[in-house]
Amino acid sequence: MIALNDLARGHHAGLDELRSACERVIASGWYVLADEAARFENSFADYCGVGHCVGVGNGTDALEIALRAADIQPGDKVVTTANAGMYATIAITACAAEPVFVDVDPATMSMSPASLRAALEQRPRAVIVTHLYGRLAAVEELVDTAHDFGAIVIEDCAQAHGARRRGEHAGTFGDIGCFSFYPTKNLGALGDGGAIISNDKSFAVRARQLRQYGWKHKYQCELSGGRNSRLDEMQAALLSVKLGWLDVQNDARRSIARRYFDGISNAHITTQHRDGESDVVHLYVVRSPYRRQLAAHLFDAGVQTDIHYPVPDHRQPIFADRFAATLLHVTEALADEILTLPCHPTLSEEEIAHVIDACNRFRP
Ligand SMILES: *Cc1c(COP(=O)(O)O)cnc(C)c1O
Repeated sequence: MIALNDLARGHHAGLDELRSACERVIASGWYVLADEAARFENSFADYCGVGHCVGVGNGTDALEIALRAADIQPGDKVVTTANAGMYATIAITACAAEPVFVDVDPATMSMSPASLRAALEQRPRAVIVTHLYGRLAAVEELVDTAHDFGAIVIEDCAQAHGARRRGEHAGTFGDIGCFSFYPTKNLGALGDGGAIISNDKSFAVRARQLRQYGWKHKYQCELSGGRNSRLDEMQAALLSVKLGWLDVQNDARRSIARRYFDGISNAHITTQHRDGESDVVHLYVVRSPYRRQLAAHLFDAGVQTDIHYPVPDHRQPIFADRFAATLLHVTEALADEILTLPCHPTLSEEEIAHVIDACNRFRP
């Protein structure tokens, strides 16, 4: 079976580097928030070209802490899209804020600037823009539009580590950028991890307090909404190693995307051209009106697929009919047709050719 991800294979070539990072942490006697976390925060801030980076426990915490750092209060409205796996919505509802769902653009599958403009009439305090599948959203226009209405912009970059446009990195267009280092992400730990980046020192200072009980100093709780969400030393040390691999691995993902776009030729499968520095191809997603049959055909041909994501946020069971009046035509249509093909940096030439061939042999 050609798997969607093969993380052990991805670590094989760098095993010595990873092992010595682990040994260094074990020998140091410091396991939470010490030199390795600080070192990774500095290198990731430098890599992104941003003033501040705060390591946290995971990507969902990063989003929630970012909202709290931006002083989002219960009942405040926060705009987001409904096709990004519930992560932003969970963070919004954890703050007892009110999600306002807007539709996506069919080409980028990320937030549509026109839909955002319409939602800004509702005076949201913040907008969460997700760079879905690794491709930068129309973030410049979204940020300008949101700022015109006084809303702050949080970028969810959990699928877009290293994506950039004209040298500007994902996470630095708006006010705060949030990252996940879940193992399958383009920059993945060997466990959970996350980070918040910002050029605004006051957001960074608040995020740093919120990740550790709301402390100002040890045992001095100053901010409410604090919790324990820290990046541990082992993950930080491993991430420092893997940050050095990121650009090369993103290139490898783009070259697989080029092979798929050039090679897959089937009237029942729509592929997208995915290339350039603004797209790090976290997921290669095709569309087909015969999605169920296509997935079954690929499974039989030894190709694992998945759906990112099958149930839009506003249709999730936890909401029952709370968003029954919310109609997101593009989001809902895409949810029925999208299918993710394997696209990880260590896929072999033969495996890529096999996926292409299997797609081309599909007949509904
Ligand atoms: C993975 C992911 C998250 C959540 O990250 P965790 O570390 O799993 O909490 C948030 N947003 C997006 C878009 C993601 O892909």
